[in-house]
Amino acid sequence: MSGRIMKGIAGFYYVFVEGSGLYECKAKGIFRHDKKKPLVGDYVEIEITDEKEMSGSIVKILPRRNQLIRPEVANIDQALVIFALTNPEPNLVMLDKMILQYQCQNIPVIICFNKEDLADMSMLEEMRAIYENSGCKLLFTSTEKGQGIDEVRAALRNRTTSVAGPSGVGKSSLINCLLPEVQVETGTVSKKLKRGRHTTRHSEIFQIATDSYIMDTPGFSSFELFDITKENLGSYYEEFASYGDCRFLPCSHTHEPGCQVKEAVQNAKINEKRYEQYVQIYREIKEQRRY
Ligand code: GDP
Ligand code: ZN
Repeated sequence: MSGRIMKGIAGFYYVFVEGSGLYECKAKGIFRHDKKKPLVGDYVEIEITDEKEMSGSIVKILPRRNQLIRPEVANIDQALVIFALTNPEPNLVMLDKMILQYQCQNIPVIICFNKEDLADMSMLEEMRAIYENSGCKLLFTSTEKGQGIDEVRAALRNRTTSVAGPSGVGKSSLINCLLPEVQVETGTVSKKLKRGRHTTRHSEIFQIATDSYIMDTPGFSSFELFDITKENLGSYYEEFASYGDCRFLPCSHTHEPGCQVKEAVQNAKINEKRYEQYVQIYREIKEQRRY
């Protein structure tokens, strides 16, 4: 039988087999041998060890479309990064770092700004101005008022989407909207901040329609940009793509004379805020890598 690993907890893998249900499986020793570990998101073949108990063992991992480094999951088509327009105020440098982490792994990103009901139009327009040329799809929602949820559903259709965001932005509420049967624990911002941790500790996949899955991924707690160097950072900015002809190459686009990117910012061809966030991330990487 074949199925998909929906979650992994304490050495057990929970494999969903269409039409049969969820099997609790152990991985056979052969994987340890190969140094190949089954991942959440993997399509696998299983052997049933006890049909009544719904237990089995994973005997084969089917070929992966891709494999993310963090979170460590397989077969992801895209990521949905959710932030609130307000309450909490969005930390856009953090948002950019999250986008970059997916982009450097070749995963397309959808940015979802939630809590539209608490924000005024100018906040929404500002976010649109900052991200409209980022190459990310932009969505605005209010899980509270049910606004924009159909658009989210449409964007997730026939794909497996990793859903990530900082605490308190409405990630659990959004997942609950998409999947009314599953009640992910929701908490108030203040309660969460007090506890100082995320409710999601394991990656877990939920099926939201026949071929649509979302993967609830643990909140990011550190933002080291593992595959991103100050030299290649700019290459992930779609806004910069048509301004590669700077006077000095390579150009960091931060201080060099004759920099085309800086000129495009001055001429309002590139959003100034997005550029300033780039410079901040560039400087942070530079600091980190100075041994
Ligand atoms: P998570 O930490 O990202 O999973 O956030 P939750 O889903 O637990 O939501 C955090 C708080 O924000 C809860 O009190 C929710 O009721 C509230 N919340 C979530 N979405 C919205 C929204 O669209 N509008 C408003 N006003 N509040 C929301
Ligand atoms: Zn430049």
